[in-house]
Amino acid sequence: MELTIDLTGRRVIVAGSPVAARRAVRRYRAAGALVLPLTSPTDFTPDLLEGTDLVAAVQDGQPGWSFLEEACRFHNVLLAHEAPAAAGGSVTLVGGGPGATGLLTLDGAAALREADVVLFDRLAPTTDLKELAPAAELIDVGKLPGHHRVSQQDIEALLTAQALAGRTVVRLKGGDPFVFGRGGEELTACIAARIPCRIIAGISSAVAVPAAAGIPVTHRGVSHLFTVVSGHAPLTDDEHTHLAGLGGTIVVLMGVNTLPQLVAGLRAAGMRADMLAAIIERGYSASQRTTSGSLGSILTDAGSARCQSPAVLVIGEVVRTGLELQGEATRLASLADSLVAL
Ligand code: SAH
Repeated sequence: MELTIDLTGRRVIVAGSPVAARRAVRRYRAAGALVLPLTSPTDFTPDLLEGTDLVAAVQDGQPGWSFLEEACRFHNVLLAHEAPAAAGGSVTLVGGGPGATGLLTLDGAAALREADVVLFDRLAPTTDLKELAPAAELIDVGKLPGHHRVSQQDIEALLTAQALAGRTVVRLKGGDPFVFGRGGEELTACIAARIPCRIIAGISSAVAVPAAAGIPVTHRGVSHLFTVVSGHAPLTDDEHTHLAGLGGTIVVLMGVNTLPQLVAGLRAAGMRADMLAAIIERGYSASQRTTSGSLGSILTDAGSARCQSPAVLVIGEVVRTGLELQGEATRLASLADSLVAL
């Protein structure tokens, strides 16, 4: 059962030891309640229940709280049982998906609910973060490009310092933590600091952003493989040759700035000028946009459309499949609309 109660201005007693109850205290405060932490059974007097709307009992294993149930019943105050927050610090690397809250995994959402602190990136799903992590301090470590950016070294230092202070830390990243996400480096830093660390995989933009534009990265009879490449730095001639030779779909992340080198490299490696290409910018946002063309035209197309990062570039026959499917889907939708209109 999922129950939503407006706790604004309501008085809530949170009973439990400070460490175990810290998250519940913050969560009820974030919900607008007037929170009275009760850290020891010896601090309890029945008059505290006067004017109290809810008692949250944190199951921290401390003896002596058993009277609460009876007292709440007697004074007609609601009693909620709460799981305790963990005592030792930990880090969870959460893949947040390509930006839409709906594409965050259930495990990722559960980790956020438990977090004391969330270090998040620009590409992570940030819109609903306050609701997803109601007890957490939210730290933006991935300011927009051009603004001051927290260095990777500083992120790792912050991550480990927070966990060593005993906090439950979530490192929320865009897409999947291990796909160009530096998740491996952060895991290494946690291991070096002997901090328990776990990984929650996320939906990578490499497949999800083409899908948002209706482009399947594989399609029976069209492409049975896809290669995901970082365009952060230009590829080598060898890499262009191998990529062109594979004959499958090429998906490029961080590739807007190196598009000229990629196009020239693939053409030099023998890829046809009429091979289809698409650039999908800001997938899953209100301003998502697809610019499509051929390998021969995509540079000019991207230039006149002023394509910008973040964007996923797809090169391959599947772009045609995607465009055809999109056309069919639109036709069906308008058919359905006209049926409704009848
Ligand atoms: N770990 C991430 C990738 C990080 S690299 C993942 O698995 O998705 C950052 C690049 O991902 C961006 O430069 C862009 O190429 C791509 N990207 C991530 N989210 C995107 C989005 N919503 N729309 C378009 N591109 C996106």
